[in-house]
Amino acid sequence: MEKKIFIKTFGCQMNEYDSNRIYDSVKSIGFIKTDDQKNADCVVLNTCHIRDKSKEKVYHEIGRVKKNYKQKHKPIVVVAGCVAQAENQEMLKREPYIDIVIGPQSYHKINELIKKFEPHRQEEETEFDTISKFEYFDVIKNKTNKISSFLTIQEGCDKFCHFCVVPFTRGPEYSRPFKKILYEAETLIKNGTKEITLLGQNVNAYSFFENSKEYRISNLINELAKYSELKRIRYTTSHPRDMTDDLIDCYANNKKLMPFVHLPIQSGSNKILKLMNRKHTVEEYINTCEKIKKINAKVEFSSDFIISYPGETSDDFNDTLSLIKKIKFINSYSFIFSPRPGTKAAGLNMIDKEISKERLNEIQKKLFDHQKNKNKSFEGEIVEVLVENKIKNQPKLFGRNKFNNSVIFSGNNNDIGKIIKVKIKSTNQNTLFGEAA
Ligand code: SF4
Repeated sequence: MEKKIFIKTFGCQMNEYDSNRIYDSVKSIGFIKTDDQKNADCVVLNTCHIRDKSKEKVYHEIGRVKKNYKQKHKPIVVVAGCVAQAENQEMLKREPYIDIVIGPQSYHKINELIKKFEPHRQEEETEFDTISKFEYFDVIKNKTNKISSFLTIQEGCDKFCHFCVVPFTRGPEYSRPFKKILYEAETLIKNGTKEITLLGQNVNAYSFFENSKEYRISNLINELAKYSELKRIRYTTSHPRDMTDDLIDCYANNKKLMPFVHLPIQSGSNKILKLMNRKHTVEEYINTCEKIKKINAKVEFSSDFIISYPGETSDDFNDTLSLIKKIKFINSYSFIFSPRPGTKAAGLNMIDKEISKERLNEIQKKLFDHQKNKNKSFEGEIVEVLVENKIKNQPKLFGRNKFNNSVIFSGNNNDIGKIIKVKIKSTNQNTLFGEAA
């Protein structure tokens, strides 16, 4: 008999990709996906450890599951993802309702763990076994049939920024074999995918050697561009130090690579970048952006900012404001520093909360102004949109323009999966609105 699995995904696109792959795996042991958590035989929480209070969020979520199953047979409860990796045994001790804790590099063992599940016997699997994981998933077809799909090409990080948990939760850098990635891309394209976003914690550090030849992300982008049915290529998340010339050159020659680069810098102050162990300077970052702009003036940038990192003075903060003024990011993420247990920055003196809030407000005002102005510049224009889906309960379609802006518009359902022209009538901070031209 078919059993139902409910998978809730927190955090980044890599977790979304992983959740889809977990589902591709558990299908072979008789599970089908449900959106109704209350009737699932197995509940998987795929967690994220990047933001503050992520651990508590997981326990709240388990509280909700408990409540739903009060009078019923308990489902198998699996905690996956970065919180599982970081907390492992602690989670099992604190919450006996959890049956399985599994880290991101052990998903190839999920079927076995679920199959051998027995009530009151908790299991924990948090080895860094990345090679075996990808070998396992390489032979299970990726069943994602979205117009825009994610494809993980690289995992882990060797850079050890002092605020970040990724090197501890995802392990050392690992790049998947070049041909395996192309094989998975082919499967996605056959399933109807028109846009692929290559994923990695350090995606542009991708480096795979075969017969003494190094394959970089630029080789992947150029190879993917040869598939005529694939219309768009993106990648995320990049490190400024790995924006090598071969990748920058893709912006001149590769029409399918979208002219939008998400390039986290975190701070506009060299002093703070050094304290963060970012391994690059503000000048190097600006130089990279200028190089790309010189090659292709249409390219726009977005970034990530950590506000009030320990040691940030008002001068350092003003340096960040100046950088934002210079690069005019069209979209960015900004957060007040919050310490992650186990990282070097965890024990440092925090900056006063009120000052931090003021700084965040000031930064966000600048970033949001750029974002709104950029969006406004599309009003009255015709933009190319890859149509992804119909909006639920509305006679409208959803798609994205080249800069990854959400576009909601009136159009023809037959255009789903196509790139069409849309006349933009109005905009707000996050979305463009219009109609098929
Ligand atoms: S480069 Fe990115 S993933 Fe690696 S430690 Fe720094 S912030 Fe984390």
